Amino acid sequence: MYEESHSTKRHAGIRRLRIGGTRLMPWALSLAVMLVLAFAMPVSGHWEILQTVETVERAPSVDGEAFVLEPTPTPIIPERARVPILMYHYVSEIPPGADRLRRDLTVTPEAFRAQLQYLADAGYHPVTLTDLYLYLTQGYPLPEKPVVLTFDDGYRDAYEVVFPLLLEYGFPGTFFVLATPMHQESVDYMTWAQAKEMSDAGMAIEGHGRDHVDLRGRSNDYLVYQILGIQEAIHYHTGRLPRFFAYPSGQYDANVIAVLRSAGYWGAVTTDWGQEHTLGDMFEMDRLRIRGSDTLESFVDKLEDDG
Ligand SMILES: [Zn+2]
Repeated sequence: MYEESHSTKRHAGIRRLRIGGTRLMPWALSLAVMLVLAFAMPVSGHWEILQTVETVERAPSVDGEAFVLEPTPTPIIPERARVPILMYHYVSEIPPGADRLRRDLTVTPEAFRAQLQYLADAGYHPVTLTDLYLYLTQGYPLPEKPVVLTFDDGYRDAYEVVFPLLLEYGFPGTFFVLATPMHQESVDYMTWAQAKEMSDAGMAIEGHGRDHVDLRGRSNDYLVYQILGIQEAIHYHTGRLPRFFAYPSGQYDANVIAVLRSAGYWGAVTTDWGQEHTLGDMFEMDRLRIRGSDTLESFVDKLEDDG
């Protein structure tokens, strides 16, 4: 309160100087500064005089108005973000003899391209989970109509089909990979060299576990083995530390979250439906499942869903 009334007085002083003749003001101020400095010398250390000098020097720089000191503003941290996180598995032609599950998990390259084209045309801006995290923790701005594109399991088509299409559109993708099939160089999964190439091109390679197993009710050691294991493998092979995790088959419990936190993860995605996110639920982020049976119309309906 004291500071406030003090600065009001200073403000009034500047106003009076202006009334005396605006063109003369710079000279008058310089003279005032010199005089005040001269008189301040013998009593240097007396804070009132030094403060006056500071005020007089500052005042003319802001259109003749007194410089008002305000506390540094605290950044506004948003409470929630509405960001659809799309969940894909396979993006490929339907293999011969595919069962119902495989058909459900497979979006054809043609349908996928149409979905990307729609996102581009409708003004959506794909971002990463890190972007979402920085928005919710530090208020870093998100672009208009943000959307996250996630791909589970690290199948070979993620590299062969999804990656080139995302590059074509300039969209970042988020890929949740498994260490064991990559270590074994399974032909159905992307290789570590491919993951590194994608990571270098701006794709986010994140953790899905060492193996695709239900993590509920496991010992601490086992969880560390699965969760830290995939994190270290990705870090080793791409040079980038993954900060996000996708629960295998969407299954988790409190211990899984605790181990993720202790390993330095910033969040995890589920397979539950939703697109509202808060800092408090970063380890239970909902997604929108895109199915093989989706038409472009149902794809758009999912994006615009209010749930
Ligand atoms: Zn999976």
